[in-house]
Amino acid sequence: MMIVMKEGATEEQVDHVVQRIEEVGCSAHLSQGDLLTVIGAIGDRDRVASLGLEGAPGVDHLVPILKPYKLASAQFRKGERSVVEVDGRRVGGDHFGLIAGPCTVEGREQTLDVARTVADAGATMLRGGAYKPRTSPYSFQGLGVEGLRLLAEAKEQTGLPIVTELMDARDIPDVIEVADVIQIGARSMQNYTLLSEAGRTGKAVLLKRGLSSTLDELLMASEYVLKEGNPNVLLCERGIRTFETAYRFTLDLLAVPALRELTHLPVIVDPSHAAGRRDWVMPMSLAAAAAGADGIIVEVHNEPEEAICDGPQALPTEVFADYAEQVRRVAEVAGKQVTAV
Ligand code: PEP
Ligand code: MN
Repeated sequence: MMIVMKEGATEEQVDHVVQRIEEVGCSAHLSQGDLLTVIGAIGDRDRVASLGLEGAPGVDHLVPILKPYKLASAQFRKGERSVVEVDGRRVGGDHFGLIAGPCTVEGREQTLDVARTVADAGATMLRGGAYKPRTSPYSFQGLGVEGLRLLAEAKEQTGLPIVTELMDARDIPDVIEVADVIQIGARSMQNYTLLSEAGRTGKAVLLKRGLSSTLDELLMASEYVLKEGNPNVLLCERGIRTFETAYRFTLDLLAVPALRELTHLPVIVDPSHAAGRRDWVMPMSLAAAAAGADGIIVEVHNEPEEAICDGPQALPTEVFADYAEQVRRVAEVAGKQVTAV
């Protein structure tokens, strides 16, 4: 249930409603817009209804949320778009996030070289995995803590906020020392305990759509993070499994306008993992920006031929400035600005 407060409702009136909701064992989540405060009451709908909040001071009206996801639903923010802000860099609303970097952190020179390139080209954040979800247990699994240390050095040198994957809740203390945004990979999208734990860290979470997950399942997964009181979630379309085998995954670009209708959360696109080939990364990036995506997460490498992981889809550093410029132009046509700082 959503409790929409009157314009100008006082803090005491809001607190009172929150208290009543909590008294019946439900939780209250506040969404404060420019004009209105909306309180999401999560829990047994009948209990909330029994409170008779329609008549409480400062309450304008009540709206039932019909979707199974509540805090993620567009209704919850009455059509307002959420903006995720990290170190002054925004993604969502009018702000287009360009997140770029290597698939995996392989070494100092590689990490710093790529970080400088993407920073110089005006990227919003640096991506790079220190813990990698690999199909084979015999493949390189990431540098772990050493990888995190290199990401911290890259941040120190470039000022770029860091996006890095968390696969195991036991790594949280190490990961949150460096990560500004915790990536939950496609394979972990339905690891519900991990989602809750990531939510509890208070760090922004970049949640990738599972390989065979529906948009409803993606949104339900985001709800696990949101319900921990963490509103900073970026949803990411990264390609899904279909019958088509001509490319790595099928980039479901319709997810962009569809999600923008269903949720207030920013929606970004990963063209790299869907394409699996670098020459398809640019067209899909431009299409994503044109479709209204709030950002892109893209893989870049200084020596793609030598990359340990996902080399064929990595953009070489030499082309990145031109790539970023073209993406920026299309994003602008779609009404968004790339935020570098
Ligand atoms: C990645 O971003 O490098 C990655 C492994 O992505 P996904 O979880 O989408 O496969
Ligand atoms: Mn990758």
